[in-house]
Amino acid sequence: SVKENEPDTMPPLPAVKCRRKSVAHPEINKSSKRQSSVAKPPDGKTKRGKFGEASRPNQKFYEMIQDFRETLEITPLSTTDHIEPHRISVCVRKRPFNKLEITRKEIDVVSIPGKGVLLVHEPKQKVDLTKYLDNQLFHFDYSFNETSTNDLVYKFTAKPLVQSIFDGGMATCFAYGQTGSGKTHTMGGDFTGKQQNSSKGIYALAAQDVFAYMNHRRYANLDLSAYVSFFEIYNGKVYDLLNKKAKLRVLEDERQQVQVVGLEEVYVTTSEEVIKIIQMGSSCRTSGQTSANANSSRSHAILQIVLRRNDRATTMHGKFSLVDLAGNERGTDVSSNDRSTLVETAEINRSLLALKECIRSLGMNSDHIPFRMSTLTKVLRDSFIGEKSRTCMIAMVSPGLASCEYTMNTLRYSDRVKELKGNSKANC
Ligand code: ADP
Ligand code: MG
Repeated sequence: SVKENEPDTMPPLPAVKCRRKSVAHPEINKSSKRQSSVAKPPDGKTKRGKFGEASRPNQKFYEMIQDFRETLEITPLSTTDHIEPHRISVCVRKRPFNKLEITRKEIDVVSIPGKGVLLVHEPKQKVDLTKYLDNQLFHFDYSFNETSTNDLVYKFTAKPLVQSIFDGGMATCFAYGQTGSGKTHTMGGDFTGKQQNSSKGIYALAAQDVFAYMNHRRYANLDLSAYVSFFEIYNGKVYDLLNKKAKLRVLEDERQQVQVVGLEEVYVTTSEEVIKIIQMGSSCRTSGQTSANANSSRSHAILQIVLRRNDRATTMHGKFSLVDLAGNERGTDVSSNDRSTLVETAEINRSLLALKECIRSLGMNSDHIPFRMSTLTKVLRDSFIGEKSRTCMIAMVSPGLASCEYTMNTLRYSDRVKELKGNSKANC
């Protein structure tokens, strides 16, 4: 079987064929990389043309990155690694190259040498045109390379948060990054072609564990029921994905409790039911769009699993919010002078900024939570308060040189959230 060829620590092989290919890609396969220092791979990829010009764009940078990688000690995260409890954790996931990027011989500028570490090899040029690499190091709680499966990512990110909602807390997991970096793949499930396998995303994996806990002796006497809601925030407005995108109002009462009025909440008893709801909501989210990534890249999608006490039907016990954020690339997109695009951009920027500020408040146990800054943080207000609240941010990055600037933006944003987490530790 194929499995025998893999080291023990490798996560299960992904089902998607193109992923397998990119795993064996010389840029990221350690053993073939080692060989390449002795002899160039025979596929002609690194062969130079007649006049010494490269067979791939930016050949020089490609070689410089390869040389740098030779010096790296690589110890990838494995399923057996210890999971540390974090109140706020910030992780990063690098997706593999897709077919188009492989065809274009894109350069992989992201390395993940070990648990929690990520390097960006940013190609730069001096004034005298000398090419050099700006190698920038980032630290996270966990870093997932292109061979990591959703299962592995889940295990170190959202899974440790499930228990907190049974203990009466709020759990929140965010997928952050540019469009095309893998947010929906991670949260909603693998795509095989156009079809999304909803049972293989963090939404479904979290739902499975919620029911596992619910049936556990320890929590049985709490007498809990689970409910699911699924909605999106587009341009500051809330739309119910379980009710034909009905537009909903967000109200705040005198006790600062925020309510999404009329939000559909479906009673669920099994993870299979949740998966059906995810499928329904996801197709509602993308329906009526002209291109695959049209509106969905500009909206935040929020799946919530709410636990309520049966004896006091309206009392919420805990809540897990799983958020597929809008693409963060708009911030640098100044090319458009279309008014509606500019309004959208401003709204996305405001909400992502607000989110960072609110997580900062949670990390510092601050009494002041600037949740009113955006609709996103308003509806997630509960996530930022309370001793028992737990938050996890997964920053998604694309591997290619073409995305380098966006990748750096994503990493800088996440780095700030992480930095604040350090402060909160000092306070405790
Ligand atoms: P986003 O939601 O951030 O815009 P998507 O999740 O839609 O990005 O991912 C873009 C494309 O890349 C999809 O075709 C998806 O299947 C693929 N993809 C993303 N992450 C991975 C991954 N870890 N492994 C394999 N394919 C991935
Ligand atoms: Mg998406």
